[in-house]
Amino acid sequence: MASALRPRPDGLVIAIDGPSGAGKSTVAHLLAERLGYLQIDTGAMYRAVAWLLDQAGIDPDNLEAVKRLCSTVDIRLERQAGLQRVIANGQDVSALIRTPEMSLMTSRVSALRPVREAMMQAQRRMGARGGVVLEGRDIGTVVFPDADVKFFLSASAEERGRRRYLELAARGQQVTLEETVRAVAERDLQDSQRDLAPLRMAADAIAVDSSGRTVDEVLDSMVDACRNTLRTMGTES
Ligand code: C5P
Repeated sequence: MASALRPRPDGLVIAIDGPSGAGKSTVAHLLAERLGYLQIDTGAMYRAVAWLLDQAGIDPDNLEAVKRLCSTVDIRLERQAGLQRVIANGQDVSALIRTPEMSLMTSRVSALRPVREAMMQAQRRMGARGGVVLEGRDIGTVVFPDADVKFFLSASAEERGRRRYLELAARGQQVTLEETVRAVAERDLQDSQRDLAPLRMAADAIAVDSSGRTVDEVLDSMVDACRNTLRTMGTES
C-alpha cells in the first residue's frame, strides 16, 4: 500500500477516485459509515466553487477574480438527517449544484489552478488526522499520494450514463438517457485531458469495476481491503 503504514490519530485516509457515475458517492458514504469515518465529497466542493463563481458573475477566464474568490471561500460538508448538505459561504447549495449545467461548469472550473490549489489545501486540512473517506478524481494521485488505501472505481460508460440518468430523473430533472450518456462522456474527456491533476488511476490503487456488481459486493471487497491495512498497522479494533 501507499503509505509507510503509520497509523494516524483518527484512522485511515481512504481515497476513492474514478469517473462520474461510477458509484463513488454511494460506496464512499457506506464505507465511511461501516468504519465510522467522515465522508468528504470533493466533487461537491468543486461544484460549490463553480456555483459561487457563477453567482458572482465571474468569468472563469479571469484568473485574478477567480483567485480572489477562492481566497475567501468557505465550504462545509455537513450531514443532516442522514443527508449530505453542502454549505458554501453560509448558504445551503446542496440541490443547486446538482444540475447538468453545473456539472459541466464544474468540470471547466475545476481545471483552474487557483481553484485546485484552494480545494487541495482545504481537503488536506480536513483529512490530516485520518478517519476519512475522500472521493474525487485526484485524491490518490495529488491530494493524498500517501493515502493508506486507494481505490479506483469504474464502470462501463453506458452503465455510468444510465445511473446518472436515473439519479437526475429521480430528482425530477428533465433529461433524456441519450443526452445524459453524452454529458457523462464529455465530462470524462474534460476531466482526463486537463493539464492539472487529470483523472487517472494511481499506480498503487486497487482497481474496482462496479459494472454488473451489487453495491454490497463492491462494498464488502473495499471493507476487506481497509481492514487488511488496519491489521497490517496493528490497529484493527
Ligand atoms: O464527483 P462529481 O461528479 O460531483 O464532480 C464534479 C466535477 O468536479 C468533476 O467532473 C470534476 O471536473 C471535478 N472534480 C475534480 N477533482 C475532484 C473531484 C471533482 O476535478 N477531486
